[in-house]
Amino acid sequence: MSHLPDPDLHGFKRRGVLFVLSSPSGAGKSTIARKLLAAEDDLVMSVSATTRAPRPGETDGKEYHFVDLEEFRRMVADHEFLEWAHVFDNRYGTPRAPVEAMLSAGKDVLFDIDWQGAQQLFQIAGGDVVRVFILPPSMAELRQRLVSRNTDSADVIEGRMARAAAEVSHWDGYDYVLVNDDVEDCFRKVQTILAAERLRRSRQTGVIGFIRKLMRGPGE
Ligand code: 5GP
Repeated sequence: MSHLPDPDLHGFKRRGVLFVLSSPSGAGKSTIARKLLAAEDDLVMSVSATTRAPRPGETDGKEYHFVDLEEFRRMVADHEFLEWAHVFDNRYGTPRAPVEAMLSAGKDVLFDIDWQGAQQLFQIAGGDVVRVFILPPSMAELRQRLVSRNTDSADVIEGRMARAAAEVSHWDGYDYVLVNDDVEDCFRKVQTILAAERLRRSRQTGVIGFIRKLMRGPGE
């Protein structure tokens, strides 16, 4: 049983999809998330809170809510997170209230969270979560992407490379696994997964009314 709200829409009701995208950093997940959000009207992003410092070009409230450790701890104590975890040397958490509001409004929600977050969300939502893991084509390619992104120091890149292998080891906690060797191709596959998951019978809470009407036959 999920502890998250169903949308209360008129007509053909459908339970929102909780769509998790995870990958080692640099595997192209952010690009795919961006493309997906641009292409899908009913999909909204869950903006996490983090204690890490903003990277150049990042804006508070857009990529993340940047908070200090004290504020993060307060949010944990006040049960403001659906899930939270230590990732690298920082803390990251998914604020609960916006997700509940988005689901109630009939939206699907996209989460860019790690395997720990995916696991916690899976439990909170009673298993009603779609978990997609994106792999880089190779570790050499991953390193190249991190270097050319030019946002992290050499030390940070080494740390991320070391942890990428550990993150990949959690691939079996996901429903779908894709290799991002071509970003357009990978994006289309992720979009197809979302389309199929939206059509799952178990999510179409309003389908029974429609089927009854169909079965009453012509004249209805
Ligand atoms: P970055 O610092 O590169 O933006 O993110 C580092 C990692 O933290 C990524 O794997 C990202 O998916 C994960 N992450 C971001 N937000 C959250 C969150 O709210 N919860 C969890 N568990 N992981 C998160």
